[in-house]
Amino acid sequence: MDWFWWVLIVFWTGGFAWLADTVRTALRSRHERKLELLEAAQQERLALEAAHKPPEPICGCTHHLAKHDKQGRCHERVEVPTAWDENKKPLRFEAGQCNCQRYVGPQPLSQVYAEELTDGI
Ligand SMILES: [Zn+2]
Ligand SMILES: [Zn+2]
Repeated sequence: MDWFWWVLIVFWTGGFAWLADTVRTALRSRHERKLELLEAAQQERLALEAAHKPPEPICGCTHHLAKHDKQGRCHERVEVPTAWDENKKPLRFEAGQCNCQRYVGPQPLSQVYAEELTDGI
């Protein structure tokens, strides 16, 4: 009956190695899938947050809404070129005011609500 034990030992060791390998692979792939799921969920959450976040109130003149007065004029200080070289590259600058006449960027939600309320009165 000696051969029987040998077959059994070979089967067991081989079987164990195969089993351990399979379990390891399964665990790893499950772990990876879990990570992927987590990552996807996180990305989805970030996208949602970005979608719900109000846009930055930046005017077309690249200045923030806060730099504009009630009439919409921009008061941000800018450098106005006063001299150019032959390549039309500004050489000298003078401190000036942004000549934006009206804020055209997105309105923050709080202000939209405030305006709706005051309009109704
Ligand atoms: Zn502006
Ligand atoms: Zn401006």
